[in-house]
Amino acid sequence: MIVETLSVFPEMFEQVMATSILGRARKKGILDFRAHDLRDWTHDRHRSTDDEIYGGGAGLLMCCPPIFEAIDDITSTGPAPHVIFFTPTGQPFDQDMALELSGYERLVMVCGRYEGFDERVYTLADRCISLGDYVLTGGELAAMVVTDAVVRLLPGALGDENSAVEESFAEGLLEFPQYTRPASYRGMEVPEVLLSGNHGAIAQWRRRAAIEKTARLRPDMIDTAPLADEERAYADTIRADSD
Ligand code: SAM
Repeated sequence: MIVETLSVFPEMFEQVMATSILGRARKKGILDFRAHDLRDWTHDRHRSTDDEIYGGGAGLLMCCPPIFEAIDDITSTGPAPHVIFFTPTGQPFDQDMALELSGYERLVMVCGRYEGFDERVYTLADRCISLGDYVLTGGELAAMVVTDAVVRLLPGALGDENSAVEESFAEGLLEFPQYTRPASYRGMEVPEVLLSGNHGAIAQWRRRAAIEKTARLRPDMIDTAPLADEERAYADTIRADSD
């Protein structure tokens, strides 16, 4: 997959994109990452990418010309990209969206700064994404979060392919609680069944524990979780007890 970012702080990506799973994905050729500097498409001495806001208002807005020219240039060659703009007014990002994005051959992510973008740039967008109901100073961190969540879903990116299948949100539930050595620590014991070696019993315990945890911590997810009638009744009991 090709992931390209367009921003005024391309250097922000260097370390994150060279570390751990993302770094390994690049070395293995699973991820081809390029950070473009928006200022390369400016024409004035100050390499400006922003300007005052029509109608008044605090701060500066990222203006159209460098963004339009950059997107024209970047997208003029290579596979057809899916162009993403980051904005708090976009679609909330979640695991389903990460999975959908992992199916594209090429993503181009445009990161805002200052007071955000001139509204007209959104005509270039295939999709606008929000990371959540809060305001960041820039879209670079959002682009890193989305790239991280998407790339770990690509075949071969994770050491153990099951890791992405069994984790939170993958099956509409939070992940079941997990433990490692020591089995007993400061009076806290690992559930007996996990030490039993009985794979059937372990799978059953994990399913039950995932439902219990989701009903307690994210009751909103239970309504859409794929549960059997008996499991839903169990989840509803937990939800009622947590109210
Ligand atoms: N004035 C804008 C508003 O109120 O919607 C916020 C601009 S913010 C300070 C600057 C840039 O950070 C945005 O253009 C966007 O690219 C990025 N950003 C901020 N919050 C974000 C969020 N929750 N999700 C995605 N991107 C965000």
